[in-house]
Amino acid sequence: MGRVHLHGHSRVAGPLGAELRRSRAGIKAVSISLLVLGVTAAAQAVVYVLSGSVALLADLIHNGGDALTAIPIGIAFFLRSTSGERWAGRAVVLAIVVSAAVALEESIRRLIEPRELSHLWPLAAAGVVGFLGNEAAAIVRLAAGRRLSSPALVADGYHARIDGLVSLGVVASAGAVALGARIADPLIGLAITLLIVHIAWDAWVTVR
Ligand SMILES: [Zn+2]
Repeated sequence: MGRVHLHGHSRVAGPLGAELRRSRAGIKAVSISLLVLGVTAAAQAVVYVLSGSVALLADLIHNGGDALTAIPIGIAFFLRSTSGERWAGRAVVLAIVVSAAVALEESIRRLIEPRELSHLWPLAAAGVVGFLGNEAAAIVRLAAGRRLSSPALVADGYHARIDGLVSLGVVASAGAVALGARIADPLIGLAITLLIVHIAWDAWVTVR
């Protein structure tokens, strides 16, 4: 055992080994949070089709967009450089801007012409799912970010924590619509869309 074990041990104990372990742990944290947010957005998409809530549409576009922003950070950890990160970042910003435009157009259309919503209980549940998915992503990112001393991961963790609260806006929308305030849905949709524009701006500044 001795020789082989020592050899293997010394290979991972050097600075390169430590860097490799850090890279792998970073990729793992980013992948887990990407998966959680992706599943959250997919579940919300099903309820969007059922309910027709534009607040939920904006929230699921937001969660999907945030899942995408995890990709450049993952690439940075994977390549242990910033070269690929920049190109992936540009593609992500473009995707977020396009989806923000979709959410904006839909919210404005509904403000002018409010629509009857259905499936209000599943709609409220979709907001809770958004909250739980984001909080789970926040816990994974914050834990890994602190362990790996990665400011990008820690910042993303706090971002996801705030987004969990944003998802509760969908619950508020379901409640307000149940009480007869149909206008609440496009108003909340518009507010969440402005947040998407904000993350697109943040992502753009990061990429530049
Ligand atoms: Zn966000």
